[in-house]
Amino acid sequence: MKIGILGGGQLARMIALAGYPLGLSFIVLDPDNHAGAAGLSHHLLGAYNNPELLAKLADEADVVTYEFENVPADVAQFLASRTTVYPPANALAVAQDRLLEKNFFNQLKIGTAPYAAIDSLQDLQQAMPEIGYPAILKSRRMGYDGKGQFVVQSANDLDAAWESMNGAAAIVEGFVNFQREVSIIAARRPSGDIVFYPLSENRHRGGILRVAECRDNDPAQQQAESHVRLLLEALDYVGVIALELFDVNGSLLANEFAPRVHNSGHWTIEGAETSQFENHLRAILDLPLGSTQPRGHAAMVNFIGGLASDAELLSLNHVHLHLYDKAPRKGRKVAHATVRSDNRAEFQHSLNALEQLAEQVDNS
Ligand code: AMP
Repeated sequence: MKIGILGGGQLARMIALAGYPLGLSFIVLDPDNHAGAAGLSHHLLGAYNNPELLAKLADEADVVTYEFENVPADVAQFLASRTTVYPPANALAVAQDRLLEKNFFNQLKIGTAPYAAIDSLQDLQQAMPEIGYPAILKSRRMGYDGKGQFVVQSANDLDAAWESMNGAAAIVEGFVNFQREVSIIAARRPSGDIVFYPLSENRHRGGILRVAECRDNDPAQQQAESHVRLLLEALDYVGVIALELFDVNGSLLANEFAPRVHNSGHWTIEGAETSQFENHLRAILDLPLGSTQPRGHAAMVNFIGGLASDAELLSLNHVHLHLYDKAPRKGRKVAHATVRSDNRAEFQHSLNALEQLAEQVDNS
């Protein structure tokens, strides 16, 4: 079987790495000559909306998936008219637009921060008495890793906040004073079977994920599972999904979901019986889903902007390095490392060492 992937970056690379033992082959479409999955696949080099290349992708692949959610609606439609595309286009449409996404959560009775649609400075001025300060103005589309966001501390910030959107449609959200951020990764296959991973507890800085740690038997697990189940069933979803949540005094508020494999689930490569990448493939091929059971204590640390020396990283016990074959650049994720151990103290020791190394080279 051949899997088509729109996008050939590190997520496609890790999907391909999980697929080889299952006898799968891959074809990716990516405009970057040096795409991370290029060496592991038949690489179609060109724009995501190139009709000839999209036709080739659809013709050659048995099923097409993607590694980013900002797939233009007409591209998703074109592919779906020619082949099987998972996750479904409606999940993309909702996940690409923060307003539709928040409305969808609320329809499903999944709590969120208070929010309002903002199309002008006047909308923002009118919304703020209800939303309250501080708040975050976010562009509705094309936002990731805190990009396209402005923290509004007081009424004095409103002009600058609206200007920073460059006229783009936005939403304003109340600032949530959460105790922690968590995400749940789940997979669903066409028959409706669902598996859930243990919660990831996530630490961000500057809107970018730095560390994700597996939380086995977390008290919020059941709540997170019931939230993500509602999403999966309402979307008739197929594939892996990630739902990001704020924990406020034990109550989980939804921030956003990603209709794809997710950075906060990278620890599953060594830290779970079946990785999120393999379960994504199993789901889109309608194969039995694998166990999500954690294998001891596990966490993932991102390397952003720079990398410690391989020798230094590989000399740490219980550490597994995943290089993305990307040139270091300010703010760019170039690698991650997983720490996994059955021994809590040893796990914590290696995690601390790894975090220190990542911080030393971080230039985001
Ligand atoms: P996002 O791009 O929406 O995932 O936001 C990136 C990060 O900014 C989140 O992981 C949070 O750390 C923070 N953030 C986003 N929205 C809010 C909010 N309404 N209240 C507090 N922090 C937020």
